[in-house]
This record gives sequence, C-alpha cells and structure tokens, in this order.
Amino acid sequence: MAAHQKLYEGKAKILYATDDPNVLLSSFKDDATAFNAQKRGSIQGKGEINCAISSHLFQLLEAQGIATHFLDCPSANTMRVRAVKILPLEVVVRNIAAGSLCQQTGLELGTVLEPPLVEFYYKNDALGDPLLTSDRLLLLNLATSEQVEQLRAKALKINQILTDFFQQCGITLVDFKLEFGLDPSQNLLLADEISPDTCRLWNQSDPDPKQRVMDKDRFRHDLGNVEAAYQQVLDRILAKAAQI
Ligand code: UDP
Repeated sequence: MAAHQKLYEGKAKILYATDDPNVLLSSFKDDATAFNAQKRGSIQGKGEINCAISSHLFQLLEAQGIATHFLDCPSANTMRVRAVKILPLEVVVRNIAAGSLCQQTGLELGTVLEPPLVEFYYKNDALGDPLLTSDRLLLLNLATSEQVEQLRAKALKINQILTDFFQQCGITLVDFKLEFGLDPSQNLLLADEISPDTCRLWNQSDPDPKQRVMDKDRFRHDLGNVEAAYQQVLDRILAKAAQI
C-alpha cells in the first residue's frame, strides 16, 4: 500500500488520506492524555483495543439505524472511515453523575440522572473545551437549531442502544462523549470513536468505587491496571457480540 499523507494528528488518533477523497484512515495511538493534555502517558495496546471496541460499537449502532463514518478495519489499529467535516462540538450524554458534572454542580458521584442529561461542549483546546448553552451554540454558528435538535435526538437514541448493550455485558454506561460530522451531502454522521477513552464504564460485578472503573479514569486518577481494564471491556463486548 502506498504511503498515505498525514492530514491531522490528534491526542489519540492520526488521520491519513487515501486515494479516494471520500475515504480516510484513522489510526488509533497508544498515547493517552487527560486534563486538557496536562497529563500525558501511554497505555500499551490501547490503540488496537480502542479500534476494536469502536468498530464493534459503530457496527452495532449502524445495525440499529444510526449512520456512522465507519467502513471497516484494514489492520488492528486502523479504521477506514467516510470523510466528514467534524462539527467543533463534543456531545456528552450522562446517565449517572460523575466527573465535571459533580465538580461544577455539587451533585454527588453516582446520582442517577433520569432523564439522561445531554450537554454540548465547544471543541476548542485553547479555551479548555467550555460547556455551551443552546444560545451560545447558535451565537457561535457551531450548528443550526435544526442540527442541535438532530444531535440531541441522535445522542439519546445512541445512549439507549449503548446502555442496553453494555448492560448485557455487565457494564454500566455512566457517561460518554460523541462527535459528529457532515458528509458531502450534509448528512449528519456519528464520527470519531466510542471507547474507554471517551466513556465512563463501571463493572457491575465490583461495587468498590476504584475497582469498578473500566475506563480512562484509571489513567486520570492513577488507579493502575489501565490496559487490563480496557481489554476486559473488549473481551466482554466480543463475548456478547458472538451471542447476537
Ligand atoms: N470526554 C471525552 N473527551 C473530552 C471530555 C470528556 O471523551 O474532551 C468524555 C469523558 O471520558 C466522560 C464524558 O465525556 O466519559 C464526560 O466527561 P466530563 O465532562 O465529566 O469531563 P472529565 O471529568 O472527563 O474532565
């Protein structure tokens, strides 16, 4: 295969061009960052594990009517994806209070959020990815009001599908971040990744608040065994997917 031109290198992935302008390669890295890249490290094997987890979850969502950028995986840490223009938004869905929600509101860790909370953050490292109001979203022209409603509806449907699936894996989906992009026909596609880097996942068979963590909080808070936790998420997904 000819060398591909690197288009963009992010904290966890590198995007490469292909011979087809409508198709890109997304290469998952072992690098890990947290707290707006103030904490940096590497999680051995993370690239391959996250690529495999994301691929399975994108295929699960596609099968249930959610359009995603996923095409296939030509190698263990590489995903072929449709080229989209990423909206500069992080759409966060929360089922249980954790992380910045607790810090900013005083809600106790573990508070069940019913209905789930959908939030929009501005993808802007220089500004520290601030929380947006609907009016600020429109003010900054980050999306149209129609797109905001589409994003909210898609995020909630994705939450339903993923919550049900992780439940079958014995994992509680606490919260997660999504990114969306527009294809050349202006269709809104789910993009980026869905992995333990971008979700909070709690092991239902371990009530201990530190032991139950199966996601990047193990890295953020130096809880150890990060790779083993990510691998455990993948193993459970593969075992469940084999039964479906
Ligand atoms: N998240 C993410 N990328 C970000 C910010 C958040 O993937 O840049 C995910 C995070 O892993 C968690 C959810 O979004 O699953 C909510 O994160 P939160 O706002 O609580 O921020 P944090 O506590 O991670 O700083």
